[in-house]
Amino acid sequence: MPVLSPSLSRRHALLAGAAASLAAAGAGTSRPARAAAAMTGPAFPNYNRFRLGGFEVTALLAGTRTVPNPQETFGLNVSADEFESVSEANFIPTDRAQFFFTPTLVNTGAELVLFDTGVNADGMLAALEAAGHTAEEVDVVVLTHMHGDHIGGLMHNGSPTFGNARYVAGSIEHEHWRSAGNEQFDANVRPLEDQTTLINGGDSVLSGITAMEAFGHTPGHMAFMLESEGEQLVLIADTANHYVWSLAHPDWEVRFDMDKQAAAQTRREMFGMLAADRIPFIGYHMPFPARGYVESNGDGFRYVPASYQMMMDEA
Ligand SMILES: [Zn+2]
Repeated sequence: MPVLSPSLSRRHALLAGAAASLAAAGAGTSRPARAAAAMTGPAFPNYNRFRLGGFEVTALLAGTRTVPNPQETFGLNVSADEFESVSEANFIPTDRAQFFFTPTLVNTGAELVLFDTGVNADGMLAALEAAGHTAEEVDVVVLTHMHGDHIGGLMHNGSPTFGNARYVAGSIEHEHWRSAGNEQFDANVRPLEDQTTLINGGDSVLSGITAMEAFGHTPGHMAFMLESEGEQLVLIADTANHYVWSLAHPDWEVRFDMDKQAAAQTRREMFGMLAADRIPFIGYHMPFPARGYVESNGDGFRYVPASYQMMMDEA
């Protein structure tokens, strides 16, 4: 401990004197000397940035909300008893779940790449701007799939939110929704068709960003492998939509999975690979900041939330 400097000691004495006169001023009344601090409500950061080799990766919380009756979404083929006992063992309630929507921004040093766009542009822009970026800076928007909570931020008051961006999407996914008569696709994605490049699994978006087939949740759902200077991280998008009910129990049927069997198979393959190679990942619907690891555990996987692994300097 450093020794107090004389001036600091004097300051302490002054503060002590001030406190004494405040106390004296309050004497004789029933009012406390200081007003109670105002309650400011729960607060939560909406971005989280870390280094991945030469990339900067920012998880952006574009929205979060509490949703009732989660078994109707995440446990279609299990009993209420099983749903309850698994939830209880993991310290989460069964009557509500917290949903998170987490687009990811990757600065490669050459280009700013945004993966997915949230439920709407307002939430998307709030997180992007909190992280110190503007919509105009985004060079590429990559869409993992075409569900509304991923394409909802593409348009803002009828014009493109990311005015200078080009777009990348999976060709199978794009083709499916293009002919599906889907209102959200027609409003948000179709107007950008001329600026959209369609890709397939194994294709490179940019140097260090590779598309991976992760079909099942939707017909052409894609994950993306990020690689820089020997570091890897996978953006799994909606391969699993809950860290316990879907990741720990890959065969539990999820209402939003369009092909439930294929989605379960994709979970087993994806998390099997991430567990074997000990690769970190960001899940669009994982609890913010949405980043963790998995290990094989019984018939499923255990989610290990990231702690300080990616904020350390060289020792
Ligand atoms: Zn989603």
